[in-house]
Amino acid sequence: MLDVAVIGCGPAGISAGINAKIRNKKVKVFGNNISTSYLFKAERVDNYLGFHKVTGEKMLDKFMKHAKKIKLEIEEGKVFEIYNMNSHYTINFNNEFIDTKTIIITTGLTKSKVFKGEEQYLGRGVSYCATCDGNLYRGKTVLVIGESTDSDEEAHFLSELAKKVYYINNKEHNLKEDNIEYIDAKVEEICGEDIVKSLKHSSGEIKLDGVFILRQTTPVSKLIGGLEIESNMIKVNKNMETNMPGIFAAGDCTGKPFQVAKAVGEGLVAALSAASYVDKMEL
Ligand SMILES: Cc1cc2nc3c(=O)[nH]c(=O)nc-3n(C[C@H](O)[C@H](O)[C@H](O)COP(=O)(O)OP(=O)(O)OC[C@H]3O[C@@H](n4cnc5c(N)ncnc54)[C@H](O)[C@@H]3O)c2cc1C
Repeated sequence: MLDVAVIGCGPAGISAGINAKIRNKKVKVFGNNISTSYLFKAERVDNYLGFHKVTGEKMLDKFMKHAKKIKLEIEEGKVFEIYNMNSHYTINFNNEFIDTKTIIITTGLTKSKVFKGEEQYLGRGVSYCATCDGNLYRGKTVLVIGESTDSDEEAHFLSELAKKVYYINNKEHNLKEDNIEYIDAKVEEICGEDIVKSLKHSSGEIKLDGVFILRQTTPVSKLIGGLEIESNMIKVNKNMETNMPGIFAAGDCTGKPFQVAKAVGEGLVAALSAASYVDKMEL
């Protein structure tokens, strides 16, 4: 059982991980590839103490080297879901289930819009994880909306189970499987009755049994039910506590200003709060 699981590996997540480690807690950071951090896109950062005229990529490289030096464990991949087990939490990380006493969410900004019908049919034909739910669609027809870096891999995996895979992906792809059909169109609506039956797109409508929406990031409201969200941001107090005991949040996902210094500072506060939460559990 971990003391602290950090979700997200941008400046907030690395800071939270380093500070929890310094507080002697059993901590692991679970995050997508570092290139998905917003900071990676910054051509030049001038307003972070100690750095001047530096690229975001270079800053992240320095942060990662610091983490490596103190032997902070960082695992690359995506967290699909958090389960509340009452006495602790369990996270689904790449379909591996990991128990933890506390969680620090540092998932940054999620800009993806939710498709019409997505929330209505979630768990009834709409899935975010091919590895988790692919088996339910053996011999059936599915559609993959590929917006994450591993979408091709996931579509290929589904093509081995499903009878037919439709694939919508606005990036270049390289899939040649006979049962994958690429559709060059925009998603309009996921339709059904009790369960998903079809998808309307800008060039027509197709009948299907399931829709896999593969995004780089999952909206935080989908990571765990019951988390209080305000104007699309996780609501926290000044100790970075959310409304759920043992769950903390830091960085862009908690709101403005969207800046590295704020993300790193909040990561520190969240780590200290998580550490003291764990200490109290053990009393
Ligand atoms: C072009 C640009 C220029 C900028 N310039 C500046 C600047 O000059 N100065 C400044 O201070 N700030 C700047 N920023 C803002 C800064 O980059 C952000 O404030 C900072 O990166 C926030 O850190 P974070 O850790 O909260 O989020 P992020 O850095 O976005 O990291 C979040 C990480 O969590 C991962 N993640 C999300 N969901 C999951 C999941 N379910 N499982 C696993 N991993 C997940 C994401 O893929 C990502 O890697 C700039 C941003 C951009 C885009």
